[in-house]
Amino acid sequence: MKRRDFLKITAITTAGSMIPISLKAAQKAHIVIIGGGFSGATCAKYLKLWGGRSIDVTIIEKNPLYTSPILSNLVLNNIKNINSLKFSYTGLINYGIKILNTTAINFDTDKRVIYTENGKKIRYDKLVLAPGIDFKFPNKYDINKIPHAWIAGKQTLILKKQIDSLRDGDTFIMSIPKKPYRCPPGPYERACVVADYLRKKRVKVNVVVMDENQDIIVEKKAFGSKFKEYGIDYRPSCKIINVDDNKMEVTYSQFGYMESIKGNVINIIPNQKAAKPIFLAGVNDGDFAPVDTKSYESLIKKDIYIIGDSHKSSQPKAGHIGNGEGKICADAILRNLNGYPVFDNPKTNSACYSPVSDNEATWLTAIYRYDPTTKDMKIIKGYPKSGMPSKKNFVDMFYWAGNLFSDTFS
Ligand SMILES: Cc1cc2nc3c(=O)[nH]c(=O)nc-3n(C[C@H](O)[C@H](O)[C@H](O)COP(=O)(O)OP(=O)(O)OC[C@H]3O[C@@H](n4cnc5c(N)ncnc54)[C@H](O)[C@@H]3O)c2cc1C
Repeated sequence: MKRRDFLKITAITTAGSMIPISLKAAQKAHIVIIGGGFSGATCAKYLKLWGGRSIDVTIIEKNPLYTSPILSNLVLNNIKNINSLKFSYTGLINYGIKILNTTAINFDTDKRVIYTENGKKIRYDKLVLAPGIDFKFPNKYDINKIPHAWIAGKQTLILKKQIDSLRDGDTFIMSIPKKPYRCPPGPYERACVVADYLRKKRVKVNVVVMDENQDIIVEKKAFGSKFKEYGIDYRPSCKIINVDDNKMEVTYSQFGYMESIKGNVINIIPNQKAAKPIFLAGVNDGDFAPVDTKSYESLIKKDIYIIGDSHKSSQPKAGHIGNGEGKICADAILRNLNGYPVFDNPKTNSACYSPVSDNEATWLTAIYRYDPTTKDMKIIKGYPKSGMPSKKNFVDMFYWAGNLFSDTFS
């Protein structure tokens, strides 16, 4: 390649490697990303930062503003306002990323075409799917009466209003899905935040937590001690069989027995699967999409990449690690477009801060390294690490979240 044909820039991957990327104007590739959440928005931003004018990047996102699920449990106890968790895409537009506010409704992966709800047909060279999660509801019921509040926004506000309507002697029921699900500590965090809020409001409510897992799956010491302190009725191995929004009743099985329980407010967080685009593009194996985590390219279809909560790997489904996956995927796509091999030893990091009251939080972190035999990420010895509830963690949580929000959307 002649010197005048390309411009060299340097990209720093999350693994700390430095790569030269040659940019040939004549070969402008179009990379389309479905979903502008933590993984998709980060991938778009770093594709443009590292790829510059050699590529076109488009995000197809159904909502004009993104609402962060991270910190959304703090809307329930009045620490956060939902509007402070909303992010516009102006920051990304300033990098030269095109945002299409519409829903991707179908894919022709042979012709490399995406069909959108507003009647457009969009061609791509590389497709990144970052659409997040969908739910496996146990039966049909009205989610405006029995919210999940696991995709933040309107659902969070419905649950907030219901929690504020609770009175002495009432019962609040919430369920915890079977893993894998979005944000492993999140439901335990929610139970603590709600119980602490009601206690401080001096409303005596019976808080029942029905977990489909056999035990608290993360930070058992921290959440277990808070459950005890708050008097939470924690029930392990509870599979939700039926939700009745008329009778406000949940039927569940536990240790081979069927039981029913009535609640004044019921918050079912259903079991989860990848969001619809994964199935429409035909890149799923069961509920999620298998990938080679060296690049996040699909193991089923070439030139399609899946990042964030909808991919299948040993990593947790979380926003902080989704941000890292977005960077590794951007790096791999640029290397591939420029004829370089992908970086073969990526590392990722997950981090969650969990509020457990209106002034204390815990944390959980882990580091993963690529394992070439399984093509999956493997947790590094000594991890996960976690911290017990403290006021310092509560303060640090906002610095951590601010950094993540700004690295993703600004
Ligand atoms: C209460 C709670 C607390 C949490 N706390 C933490 C934490 O402390 N740390 C942490 O790391 N993670 C946390 N998480 C998890 C984190 O929010 C998610 O893992 C993260 O949002 C996943 O990012 P994503 O990009 O995969 O999906 P999302 O953020 O859900 O983004 C997907 C986007 O795709 C769009 N989309 C979907 N389908 C289409 C379509 N067909 N067409 C166009 N657009 C589409 C959606 O509108 C959405 O904007 C928490 C989650 C919850 C619920």
